Amino acid sequence: MTIHIGIIGTGMIGEEHARRITLQLTGATITAVTDVDQEQARGVVERLGLAAEVYPDGASLIASEAVDAVMVTSWGPTHEEYVLAAIEAGKPVFCEKPLATTADGCRRIIEAEQAAGKRLVQVGFMRRYDSGYQLMKEAIDTDRLGAPLMVHAAHRNPEVPERYVTPMAIHDTLIHELDTFRWLLDDDYKNAQVVFPRKTRHAHSQVADPQIVMLETVKGVRIDVEVFVNCRYGYDIQCEVVGEEGVARLPEPQSLQFRQSAQRSNEILMDWKKRFADAFSVELQAFIDGAASGTLGGPSSWDGYAAAIAGDVCVRAQESGAIEPILMPERPAFYA
Ligand code: NAP
Repeated sequence: MTIHIGIIGTGMIGEEHARRITLQLTGATITAVTDVDQEQARGVVERLGLAAEVYPDGASLIASEAVDAVMVTSWGPTHEEYVLAAIEAGKPVFCEKPLATTADGCRRIIEAEQAAGKRLVQVGFMRRYDSGYQLMKEAIDTDRLGAPLMVHAAHRNPEVPERYVTPMAIHDTLIHELDTFRWLLDDDYKNAQVVFPRKTRHAHSQVADPQIVMLETVKGVRIDVEVFVNCRYGYDIQCEVVGEEGVARLPEPQSLQFRQSAQRSNEILMDWKKRFADAFSVELQAFIDGAASGTLGGPSSWDGYAAAIAGDVCVRAQESGAIEPILMPERPAFYA
């Protein structure tokens, strides 16, 4: 069975996903695309040689009989509307993060999905599909580390554009860690605090950089994450889980080791797309397979909601400097 996918938003990641589905993955073909910039959508069809129709808007694409499953890769504030429309149409939908830009928006989605009576949404938290994180998860789940006690993590980007402002360190950057730690530890957050070290001279005026986010989970695990988005040297994701019986560290991406000029060195990636290239492929294949079998798995809209709630509190903590409580509603049995 071939799943016919319609893509809403053919910008940077929409085109990346379209390329992957077309050139690398199996079981799906792209039959429809749309973008507010129709030229952009037509360009993707041409560049990738897709046999896809360009639709005037997301609503007509979702309604089309040529579309079995929907991918939402447009600008964040548009996600809620398209995901709700896909649920209404009873079509599986892959939504890039964020699921919605507000926790209320995410709640409306989980309500609609529950009313539909089956899981229809997979959220684009691709780190869950990264082989390194999966090894860490296995070490925790099989009790190899004993009870996890602490997590030390870092999310570093070489640089960010002028439009990147302080709250985006949470909503755009930390959001991946917020999902990853809940999943790794099988836990929820209890509170958050954000502190600001001395600011790097490489950051523009509208962003406080770096930041350290400290989280406490319900089980009492303490997490510290450095978010440093103008670190210059590379795209660098670090994670170390300290347990009662040992420590697990996220593997570094594979790279050639050089011995040259009296130095030993390894290349560090600059591009996040390369760091998680395999994870994106596994994630999208899982969506295609889930859509084909009618049993979507992976990050759910509840996970998107949980990350949004924690993210909103972290932004409040950026502003207050205080330890801010994170109050998660009870998880419905539907998302158990
Ligand atoms: P982008 O390059 O700006 O692409 C977004 C595209 O959506 C643009 O072509 C934009 O058109 C279009 N668009 C905006 N409003 C629309 C609407 N109402 N209907 C249809 N299309 C619309 O952004 P991006 O970097 O690809 O990011 C897209 C989404 O993916 C964001 O939510 C982002 O957070 C997420 N993302 C996730 C990851 C990850 O690691 N999982 C990485 C990157 C991005 P205009 O440019 O004309 O506005």
